[in-house]
Amino acid sequence: MKGPGKWADLNPKWKACANGRLQSPIDLADERVEVMPKLGTLKRKYKPAPALIKNRGHDIEIVWQGDAGGAILNGTEYNLLQCHWHTPSEHTLNGKRYELEIHMVHNNSLGHLAVIGVTYKLGRPDPFLAKLLETIKASDHDGNHLGVVDPWEIKFGSRKYYRYIGSLTVPPCTEGVLWTILKKVRTVSREQVKALRDAVHDIYMFLIVTSRSGYERNARPTQSSDLEVCINLSNIAWSSQDLTRSDANRDIYMRVRHPPALETVKDLTEFFWAYFKK
Ligand SMILES: [Zn+2]
Repeated sequence: MKGPGKWADLNPKWKACANGRLQSPIDLADERVEVMPKLGTLKRKYKPAPALIKNRGHDIEIVWQGDAGGAILNGTEYNLLQCHWHTPSEHTLNGKRYELEIHMVHNNSLGHLAVIGVTYKLGRPDPFLAKLLETIKASDHDGNHLGVVDPWEIKFGSRKYYRYIGSLTVPPCTEGVLWTILKKVRTVSREQVKALRDAVHDIYMFLIVTSRSGYERNARPTQSSDLEVCINLSNIAWSSQDLTRSDANRDIYMRVRHPPALETVKDLTEFFWAYFKK
């Protein structure tokens, strides 16, 4: 038992992960996707606001604390809540996966979610990430103040975009999410992708593994010490209301005595799935 294919078995509230008919991500050549010729109804009204940078274990996110404005999508005003990165990209085009994808997560007054995504291939550095690189390397689970961050610094570079109705790509896989993926593929440097990847553990289910000596950045704990595991539940409780609730960041903590040798991320993931099943 492992991986996102089993999310629905873990929690009855995550049934959509298996049974949903409008799930994300998808290939952008899918017939569900419309290609919009120009930004049209997509109007941005972002404004600079104070933000935190957080390492959630499975990704790096920037959470705006003040009013960062938003965007008008399909005639509805959505407020920007946070952005985070996926390496590699979640959306594909004709089966091609890109190096990186940023998701800007918004909600409206009814609590409906809208995500704007930009994909990146290897090339020149992304200016937004360039500013954040050192902070990303030092980011931790509690969050570090970034000062004021202007969402306009996340460049779209395109007036054309893909549009479809999908879902959250993490549990509870809630549907009805309005997706906007910019058609333009931007560029990111190898160093920037590596910084994002190294800062988090590429483990599904959001395991943050620590050892006595602190963060085990490569998710390869030494055999001599106990394995301390902290499971971040922030995304598991991720509904639109929970996004702003501090208690959505609850952790499960456990200690495993005499852990077996876990050489790879795959070993580790399988070990914990077996552990949970007991
Ligand atoms: Zn995402």
